[in-house]
Amino acid sequence: MRSALQRDLEVGIGGEVRFDPVSRALYSTDASVYQIEPAGVVIPRGREDVVRVVEIARRHGTSITARGGGTSQAGQAVGAGLQLDTSKYFNRILEVNASERWARVEPGVVLDELNADVRRHGLKFAPDVSTASRATIGGMIANNSSGARSVLYGKTIDYVRELEVVLADGRVARLGGLDRDALEVACIGDELLASAYRSVRVVARDHAAEIDRRFPKILRRVGGYNLDEFVNPSKPFNLARLIVGSEGTLALIVEAKIDLVPLPRSKAVLAIEFEELLDALAATPAILELRPSAVEVMDRFILDHARESPALDALRRSILQTDAGALLAVEFYADHAGDLIPMLDRLERRLAGIGARCCWRRAISGEEQARIWQLREAALGLSMAMKGDEKSLSFVEDTAVEPAKLRDYIERFLQLVRRHGTVAGVYAHASVGCLHVRPVVNLKTVDGLRRFEAIANDVSDLVLEFGGALSGEHGDGLVRGPFTAKMFGSRLYEAFRTIKRSFDPHGLFNPGKIVDTPPLTANLRYGASYQTADPPTYFDFSTDGGLGRAVEMCSGLGACRKKLDGTMCPSYMATLDEKDSTRGRANALRLALTGRLGESGLGDEGVYEVLDLCLECRACKAECPVGVDVARFKSEFLADYWTRHPVPWRTRVIGHARTLAEWGSCTAAASNAIAQSTIGRWLGDKLLHLDRRRTPPAWARQPFERVFVRRATHKQRATSHHQPDTSRRSATSDQRPAASHQSLTTNHQPLTTSRPTVVLFNDTFTNFYHPEIGVAATEVLEAAGLDVRLASHGCCGRPLISQGLLGEARALARANADSLYAAAQTGEPIVFLEPSCLSAVREDAPALLRADAQRKAEVVAAACVMLEDHLERQWRAERLQLRLRPGPSRILFHGHCHQKAMGLSASSRALLSRIPASEVTDLDAGCCGMAGSFGLGSEHYEISRRIGERRLLPAARGMGPETVLAAAGVSCRQQVAHFAGVNAVHPAVLLRSLLASAEDAEDAGHEDVEGHR
Ligand SMILES: Cc1cc2nc3c(=O)[nH]c(=O)nc-3n(C[C@H](O)[C@H](O)[C@H](O)COP(=O)(O)OP(=O)(O)OC[C@H]3O[C@@H](n4cnc5c(N)ncnc54)[C@H](O)[C@@H]3O)c2cc1C
Ligand code: SF4
Ligand code: SF4
Repeated sequence: MRSALQRDLEVGIGGEVRFDPVSRALYSTDASVYQIEPAGVVIPRGREDVVRVVEIARRHGTSITARGGGTSQAGQAVGAGLQLDTSKYFNRILEVNASERWARVEPGVVLDELNADVRRHGLKFAPDVSTASRATIGGMIANNSSGARSVLYGKTIDYVRELEVVLADGRVARLGGLDRDALEVACIGDELLASAYRSVRVVARDHAAEIDRRFPKILRRVGGYNLDEFVNPSKPFNLARLIVGSEGTLALIVEAKIDLVPLPRSKAVLAIEFEELLDALAATPAILELRPSAVEVMDRFILDHARESPALDALRRSILQTDAGALLAVEFYADHAGDLIPMLDRLERRLAGIGARCCWRRAISGEEQARIWQLREAALGLSMAMKGDEKSLSFVEDTAVEPAKLRDYIERFLQLVRRHGTVAGVYAHASVGCLHVRPVVNLKTVDGLRRFEAIANDVSDLVLEFGGALSGEHGDGLVRGPFTAKMFGSRLYEAFRTIKRSFDPHGLFNPGKIVDTPPLTANLRYGASYQTADPPTYFDFSTDGGLGRAVEMCSGLGACRKKLDGTMCPSYMATLDEKDSTRGRANALRLALTGRLGESGLGDEGVYEVLDLCLECRACKAECPVGVDVARFKSEFLADYWTRHPVPWRTRVIGHARTLAEWGSCTAAASNAIAQSTIGRWLGDKLLHLDRRRTPPAWARQPFERVFVRRATHKQRATSHHQPDTSRRSATSDQRPAASHQSLTTNHQPLTTSRPTVVLFNDTFTNFYHPEIGVAATEVLEAAGLDVRLASHGCCGRPLISQGLLGEARALARANADSLYAAAQTGEPIVFLEPSCLSAVREDAPALLRADAQRKAEVVAAACVMLEDHLERQWRAERLQLRLRPGPSRILFHGHCHQKAMGLSASSRALLSRIPASEVTDLDAGCCGMAGSFGLGSEHYEISRRIGERRLLPAARGMGPETVLAAAGVSCRQQVAHFAGVNAVHPAVLLRSLLASAEDAEDAGHEDVEGHR
């Protein structure tokens, strides 16, 4: 039943109001160890909505916790009242004044998006949080965030000129710098704002000495309220500076006027390797004398974890020269590139001068520097990628001390961690003495909880002893709030409470943060009573410790909420809705699995809806720092869901796409006429909810299998006809010797041949819809000196897997493993043309099987390759090459999501780059939006289009006459044909058209194909 609060909100605001259990669950966590279910969620469209929400919440006595990206690590973005999410709609850049270097923005704008916009003026917003891809300016202001370059730029507070806020009485106030006279005027009156002005003035004046004594004198302190900003009478009195760092507890920010800085002109990095972390920290003060823009550190824990991921290990090895125990990345900015080398020279002399035991490598090019920062950015993910219940946690991860004391402080810190029987990863900002130390703790046990509390207590003592701050950048929230009185003393703690009361007398804004915080172990996401779900599954999740633990790997750090680059997560990029992010899906599943969504649990319609827009692109598996694989979770969820709900016809039809294709192609002409007719499409829409605006792909008159046989027979005949006179073979046929050695029998066994053989995986789309691609691939492989054969196998299983028909998918995986095992065992590569088929056989099939069948499938998986990847690798190893004619002047390359997720687009791009006279551009367009059958569903048509419109479709429409769009994915090609009217080509077809001998290579098989429709 709708509550009065919900009703009033629905009537009162233009934005969205959600009170359903799934939405509340999705907003119950941030990137911290806490979880609090809100009463409801509001997604305002603008300032008026926020004002109305404040009025309504006040009337109903409900609190409000604002949220941007929800990337807070201390729990300050969760609360029991309303969650107010500014990131979806309230995110515009209102004004940029380049000459005066400032911008006016709404609170939900994301830092990277702001910076991408102001870059055209040569400007940026300086504080550079590592979560720049999803952190909002509102969240950064409320947390007083900063980043790797804070030694140069300072914190967010240094860039906030004015704020427009909604106060607890519902009034909108503009807060900016006031001189003495203006302050006097502001303090007059009965209104809440005037009383707040008076209160801050009096509290700051009365506590000036205590503030001086208790506020740490270091660059990094964000805990408590910024009372230190109000003790110097010569500074303008700017209440905006109190809102900064107040974690949404004093007012809601609805607009910010922020300063921008010029982009650096030139940069260089010195990557310095030490045997020991402490040596690196000991060298830092001397390095700081040379005024670097950043000094970032990573310890052995982080560097060693990088070995576990092939991509990160390659990155690690490309940077490190030794088995380093710590890496310091020291960066310099300069106006002139020529100044950088002397800076690096000076640093190297300084290191030698202080006798630092280290070695170094210069990173001068942008690419070298990017690699170092990429490894640094992966640090948190690496420290979190621990499987099982022991996790490297954020709770004492944010302390800061003077850099001169950092070495001794960290030595004591690590001793303390060891004394508590555990280990910790260490990384972050050595330049400002703010290191992230994340002890490994299992919160699901009583012992673990005790350790958590004890470490937190001991660290707060240590920080006090070293005159440091408990929070250097991540804020107090629920995890450091319990220590605020200890860190600042009881007098200042009371002063903070006075401030809170004067702004927010009825506890409307984010209660329990900064002051009056609940106990440290209240509201934990995992506690001693938490039971991880371990349901039986089709997929093998044993390396994660079961499905429940695989889902729990999502820690909420929100990298899946990025919008500007990569592929994860296409639906979020299109809707900017938390429920359509990878994090949202993992959260919904976790809560459903543990019964937090009520009895319906996994059968819950709300969870179904959250997973429905997952395109199963598998980008999360590749791009999420901890490799959360939601596509696989979704299949598993659906498999369970179908045990409680009837399986829809569409699911059955799509799941059995190969059977449908077999039937359709038997009578291709008639089937095509019916399926593509208006009435056929109307029926498809009515009966199967396949959108009638889509034109179904046409069945080929001759399946590839038959074309392949006829083509080979033809060649065999031609060969025997010409056999006696080998001297008359032309130069071109010498270049394509495969034509005379075609491997084939009708049961697809190879003929005896001296040339290497490959098995071409005859996927459903190649066989029944696009045999011309199979022919092109065969000819390209032959031209490369390889013999091609087909093997008998079934569908790859992708359609069944994506529809959650996992019982049948498992049977198919077993059958395919049996059919392909012999080839794989003899070392024949199994070449795929369609990335999603490759990922089904290579990655999903082994995981669906167990015991011997699994081992067999793994042997098969190891033999499976993508056509372009195989050719490129072999070419690079000088085992083959293709003679190609000059190609189109420009080739736009669009990688299929599964191709990207398997790390195979680089080789495809590299292969295309070998085409003479062609310039290849990787579109990095993310997902096309079609994603197999996803875009065919009528309910997905619009979102499918929006995803494609992000980059791919505009790029396709803007193609010049001499440009070709190459895409291996059949669904990607369908999508651009449908929405942009552009015929993209499979790379095999493009390469085939450019074979130097192509003009001479007329053959019957090819003719067959050309008339296939
Ligand atoms: C992997 C990782 C790396 C990080 N690295 C850094 C780093 O380098 N430096 C750093 O400083 N932090 C870092 N953080 C912490 C966090 O990302 C930053 O504090 C970030 O600025 C928070 O932005 P957000 O939009 O996610 O805010 P949220 O987490 O959504 O909210 C933060 C706070 O702001 C309040 N708030 C949000 N919007 C408003 C509003 N309109 N009005 C009033 N209050 C509001 C919320 O109630 C909450 O208290 C990191 C976090 C993670 C997970
Ligand atoms: S899915 Fe991955 S990227 Fe997204 S919040 Fe979870 S851990 Fe982070
Ligand atoms: S599989 Fe793709 S759409 Fe689904 S959650 Fe992962 S990134 Fe998002």
